[in-house]
Amino acid sequence: MPNQHDSFDSFGFKPQILKGANEAGFVTPSPIQAEAIPYILEGRDLIGQAQTGTGKTAAFGLPTMSRIKGGDSVELLVITPTRELATQVSDELFKLGRFAGLRTVTVYGGQSSYRQVDLINRGAQVVVATPGRLLDLLGSNRLKSFAPSIVILDEADEMLDMGFLDDIKEIFKFLPVERQTLMFSATMPQPIKDLASKILRDPVNVKVTPPDENANKDIAQQYYVIEEHERDDAILRLFDSEEPSRSIIFTRTKKEADRLSTMLIAKGYGAKGLHGDMEQKSREEVIKSFKNSQLDILVATDVAARGLDVKEVSHVFNYHIPFDPESYVHRIGRTGRAGKKGIAITLVTPLEYKELQRIKKFAGADIKMQQVPTLGDVKKAHSSKLINSILGARLSDEARRLLTILEEQIDAQQLALKALSLLIEKQNISGPDSIGVNPQRLEKLLTDHRRDRPLKRGGGKGGGHSRFRKPFGDRASGKPRSKRY
Ligand code: ADP
Ligand code: MG
Repeated sequence: MPNQHDSFDSFGFKPQILKGANEAGFVTPSPIQAEAIPYILEGRDLIGQAQTGTGKTAAFGLPTMSRIKGGDSVELLVITPTRELATQVSDELFKLGRFAGLRTVTVYGGQSSYRQVDLINRGAQVVVATPGRLLDLLGSNRLKSFAPSIVILDEADEMLDMGFLDDIKEIFKFLPVERQTLMFSATMPQPIKDLASKILRDPVNVKVTPPDENANKDIAQQYYVIEEHERDDAILRLFDSEEPSRSIIFTRTKKEADRLSTMLIAKGYGAKGLHGDMEQKSREEVIKSFKNSQLDILVATDVAARGLDVKEVSHVFNYHIPFDPESYVHRIGRTGRAGKKGIAITLVTPLEYKELQRIKKFAGADIKMQQVPTLGDVKKAHSSKLINSILGARLSDEARRLLTILEEQIDAQQLALKALSLLIEKQNISGPDSIGVNPQRLEKLLTDHRRDRPLKRGGGKGGGHSRFRKPFGDRASGKPRSKRY
């Protein structure tokens, strides 16, 4: 069933919460978000199952923070198995909830409980806690009127592995009976099912299938990390090395489609652009010549290529990374059809790398990093092909006739060399020797980038609630925070 939530606007969040999602750079809800959020907003209990990195924190964070009143006591409790996860979830909730003026306190062992208690009692609405410390605080009766109306167990299977199940059961004795309870877990072993049946009331089950179960096995997906100015060189080099029989290059804009097709034609390729500014008639002509193989390369925008059904497209190229996972899936689906193998190639700059990781997760795509072949590599590959085709060539009568003419003017060795040179020249392989960013350099760029800009969008960090946040989290101690990607 296709879900109708393809943007965050449609859920009906409080404006301040929607703003949090927008400012975090979220555009398309992940599958678990699209499915779980409407139920959570309705107030239903829920069991959510999805792989790591699929956006579960926002899946529970956005709707619950949108539901709570924002009064002077704890309304939302999230229990996570480890201190690292607590910090991570807390950071994410802070990021998403900061425009709603929500105060978040992180509670875990190994730190003075005095401050944690103080901050909670001073009116935080959101508490993210590890089981041990939380149980201490609840057992010693130090939290004033602690009655969260929404309780979330994050990474429940991990809690089981770490032996926290009894603590969890104990914690629930201190919680209000009237509450909304959500449980997230990558897997659902029996003890977790049992726990669920005790703490949840008529829960909805939302399960998102692991990535590789829905991927098209006939499409080999690759990406190449390049610098911005190397896109054209990379495309040309990949054409030389891959020698696609029929391909579509996707661009983000009409202008880019025009420019790129002009460039390819200038280099001797049979390419044409296809985009929405073209007249219906010329669009149809382009599609027709692509279908009947008069044209090898179609340079298209997403919109123009919608509904385009062409068989035997050997390669799909993403000149830029697409804006969202859906369009990635849509684009690459143009190849690997009807049991034929296809190759999907995406060019990304180090800046776009994060986007790629997001698409990988949300589209469940197995996209493998590759290096653009060097000029030498491609020449070598073409040479061995040339050798094979010369050895396998059939002799024609015309060739015999020409040879008798040439023999009078040039010796056999000279003749062979000249003929070979002509053939090599015809291959016309050029461009810079090496193209792209190698893994070591990429790693360095990414680390530098992370260090310089810990948050995606500038400004705004800290905000009005930093006094509730600063004493906690690794930020204060200057240690690097754990990163998902
Ligand atoms: P999980 O709990 O499923 O392992 P997280 O909630 O930690 O995953 O999310 C992983 C990353 O994805 C986080 O950096 C988060 O900010 C980001 N993220 C979550 N939802 C979205 C979205 N809809 N669009 C873009 N990024 C998202
Ligand atoms: Mg998580």
